[in-house]
Amino acid sequence: MASAGFDGAWGRSPDYDLLIKNARVVDGAGNPWFRADVAVKDGRIARIGRELAGAARQVVNAEGLILAPGFIDVHGHTEDIFSYPDAENFIRMGVTTLVTGNCGASVIDVGEFLGRYRETPLTVNLATLIAHGSVRARVMQYAARAPNDAELAEMKRLVAKAMEDGAVGLSTGLIYAPGSFAKTDEIVALAKVVASFGGVYATHMRDEGNRVLEAIEEAIAIGEQAGLPVEISHLKVASPRLWGASDRMLGLIRAARARGLEVTVDQYAYTASSTSLETMLPNWTLEGGRPEAVKRLADPATRQKVKDELIASLKSKGRSDFSYAVVAFYGANLNYNGKHLVEIARLAQGKDDLDAQTEQILTMYEQGGAGM
Ligand SMILES: [Zn+2]
Repeated sequence: MASAGFDGAWGRSPDYDLLIKNARVVDGAGNPWFRADVAVKDGRIARIGRELAGAARQVVNAEGLILAPGFIDVHGHTEDIFSYPDAENFIRMGVTTLVTGNCGASVIDVGEFLGRYRETPLTVNLATLIAHGSVRARVMQYAARAPNDAELAEMKRLVAKAMEDGAVGLSTGLIYAPGSFAKTDEIVALAKVVASFGGVYATHMRDEGNRVLEAIEEAIAIGEQAGLPVEISHLKVASPRLWGASDRMLGLIRAARARGLEVTVDQYAYTASSTSLETMLPNWTLEGGRPEAVKRLADPATRQKVKDELIASLKSKGRSDFSYAVVAFYGANLNYNGKHLVEIARLAQGKDDLDAQTEQILTMYEQGGAGM
C-alpha cells in the first residue's frame, strides 16, 4: 500500500517523516471511525486532520484501509518471546504490545526477563504479570494446603520484588495446580501487595464450567477486598449445562462495576479454548506434582476412583463423551495431534467406551501430558 514520495525542494527538510493519507481512523478511544490524514515526525504523531498540507519523506495512501493504534494483547503466554524477537505473527495482526505471565504462570525474576531486551530488542512492547502459581510453586512446591506465615511472607516478598521490577499485576490460574490449592484469602493477601504498586489482578478463574458464577464472585471479591482492578481472562461458559447463563455472568460483572470496582473481561476470538490435559484430572490427584500423581495412578483402586470422577464430571456438564476434547500436541505420539479423545481411545485400544476414554486420558497424562 506504500507509495513513497518526497516532493519538497532539495536540501530542505520535509515537514513530516511519514504522512498517511485518506485513512479511516479508529482511534481506540471508543469513538466511531473518521476519515483523516495522520502525520508523523520524530516517531510521534504530529498532526491529525483532513487533507493535511506539507511534505513528508514517505507518503502512504491508505484509501479504503483502517488506521488504528497498535493493539494490546492482554492475554498472552509469550515467556519465549525473546526466541522470536520479530514477533511476526503479532505484528501482522496489528498487535504491538504483549502482556504475558497470564493464568498463574510467569517468570519469577521479572527484572532479568524484561532486561533481556537490551541484548535482544523486540519489535513489540512487552509487559508481564507476576503469576501466583509460579510464586507458590517456588515457595511451597505442589503442597495442597494453605501456606504457613513464613511461606506467605516469602510469596509476598517475591510478588513485591516483581512489581518493583516492572510487573503490571498479579495473575492466577485457579484451575491449575498449584494455584488450585490456594484459598481466596491467600490470593487477597498477594493482591494487596500488587494493589500497593497500582497493579491489576488478572485471573483464569477457579471454574469456567458449572460453577462459573461462583468463580466470578470470587474474582470480584478479591478485587474488592484487595482494592485493585480485575481482569477476567477468556470469559466463557464451558459447560453446555450452563449455556445461556451469560446474562447472569455479565450481570455480576455489571453490578460490581456499578459498585465502583473496575472489572473487565477478555474473550477468545474463536469458539474453542486451549489448555492442558492435566486440567481434566481431579485436584487431589495432582498434589505433590507429576511424580506423585503418577505414583497415585499406579494403584488400581485410586485409578478407578479417578476414572469414576472424570466420568461424573463429564456427565455433570451435560456431555456424554470426551469427543469435545481435541489434542493439539501430544509429544509421545504425534499421530494423536488433531484427533479427539474418542478417536484416540479407538486407535490405541480398539474400543471407545467411557472406560477406554478415561483410561486414555490417564495413560496420556502418564506419558507426559498433552496440549489440548
Ligand atoms: Zn488461562
